[in-house]
Amino acid sequence: MEMSSARLLSELPYYAEQAGECRLFERTHASRLPLLIKGPTGCGKTRLVEHMAARLGRPLVTVSCHDDLSAADLVGRHLIEGGDTRWCDGPLTRAVRSGAILYLDEVVEARKDTTVVLHPLADDRRQLPIERTGELLDAAPGFMLVISYNPGYQNLLKGLKPSTRQRFVALGLGYPKPEVEQSIVQAESGCTAEQASRLVRLAQALRRLTEHDLEETASTRLLVMAARLTVAGLSVEQACQAAIVDALTDDAETAVALAEVVAAVV
Ligand code: ADP
Repeated sequence: MEMSSARLLSELPYYAEQAGECRLFERTHASRLPLLIKGPTGCGKTRLVEHMAARLGRPLVTVSCHDDLSAADLVGRHLIEGGDTRWCDGPLTRAVRSGAILYLDEVVEARKDTTVVLHPLADDRRQLPIERTGELLDAAPGFMLVISYNPGYQNLLKGLKPSTRQRFVALGLGYPKPEVEQSIVQAESGCTAEQASRLVRLAQALRRLTEHDLEETASTRLLVMAARLTVAGLSVEQACQAAIVDALTDDAETAVALAEVVAAVV
């Protein structure tokens, strides 16, 4: 199953801080508390976790949650091998045993039974009960549970149960301030300061558009993609059309309106 991998990052992934979130993360880890990071897609949640795992010297186990993800996918299951059954740890169990940082991306997507195994890990017990084997695992020192979700309107109904939320320290991330976002776009793509600044101005104009029913808006990730295409030789208009406009909408009228903003700004 290629949904998770434990990694000990040797290099420090680049992360431009927005407002004290690195220290908040570090103090939350030191206090043995779990963290909930909320914010729109592509605003830097995953990169923050990668950066902090490397800074804290912890292995990182990442699981991208989806609507079929069950507690057994996280905890583990018995596998049958040549007539024998063998227990195989899931990513959550591996992280708990090894004192890793476990990052559950888009946790609201996962099936509801997953919260049952997360609760005893997220409070003072820091324990994982493995029903199938009868084990009760204490989390190794250094273990931290980090979950993220995007509180955009498509998730309003799903949300997180208050009993789950209240176990987590919460960190809200938005899009970075223009100066910070410009340095991110430049550093991640190798484009010029002038190109990065124009893309950030474009993002700000697009983020102000509210009359179109866009589920998502121009994220830092999309700006980085557009900048990379520009560096790779596409015109800035074509790069923005492909990486931003057509990535954001399938609706022809909305696409025309977004393309007009591109033409006016870049
Ligand atoms: P999310 O997890 O919120 O969807 P990511 O962390 O994957 O978003 O960020 C998407 C991309 O945007 C990253 O791969 C990186 O290129 C860039 N990025 C966004 N925010 C930052 C930041 N604060 N520092 C460095 N890169 C960032």
